[in-house]
Amino acid sequence: MIREFTVFCNLNLISLSARQLFDHFMNCFKMEDFICPTCGARHSCRSHASYKRYLISYESGKTVCYQVSILRVLCTSCGHTHAIIPEIIIPYGSYSILFILTVLRDYYTRSGSIQEICDKYEISISTLYLWIHLFRRHKQLWLGVLQDHIMSSLDFIRCLINFSMRKLSSGLKIFFLSHDFSFLQGTLKTAHSASP
Ligand SMILES: [Zn+2]
Repeated sequence: MIREFTVFCNLNLISLSARQLFDHFMNCFKMEDFICPTCGARHSCRSHASYKRYLISYESGKTVCYQVSILRVLCTSCGHTHAIIPEIIIPYGSYSILFILTVLRDYYTRSGSIQEICDKYEISISTLYLWIHLFRRHKQLWLGVLQDHIMSSLDFIRCLINFSMRKLSSGLKIFFLSHDFSFLQGTLKTAHSASP
């Protein structure tokens, strides 16, 4: 088990389907280790419900849409419920991180016109510009002002895509803990991420 986990985490983002990533993170989620983010109670949460959401990814040169089940846990201490969303998933959005990074890579390599990129990925132009804006802002938060000036957007995207899952997961977690929202998260509501 530990061996498989280690091998898995040494793979990078493009080696795994969004479904595999989601299942992996959820399999690693341990209810007994979960601390209620509202009241801080330990060992007080239990499985409460689940809801379906779409997870759109870009894999093997095509758009793929998965339906995943988000676990909601109930804290028996304070009565609040919490959706368990792995760091690799962007809260309040359907697109996977890899999908957005792939679109942005096309944008920064000038692989086509804005309209051609949007047609290819079936997104609106306003969505593309939203992602560009978010990415630029979050890149600076991730790297810091100085490093942000040194590293181009395209190099940063390539780094993220080629990070091992362990390194990417660690970076996403640090980003979330530092800013209280997730990398490339456009809707700023309070979210709690669970990680293995
Ligand atoms: Zn609680």
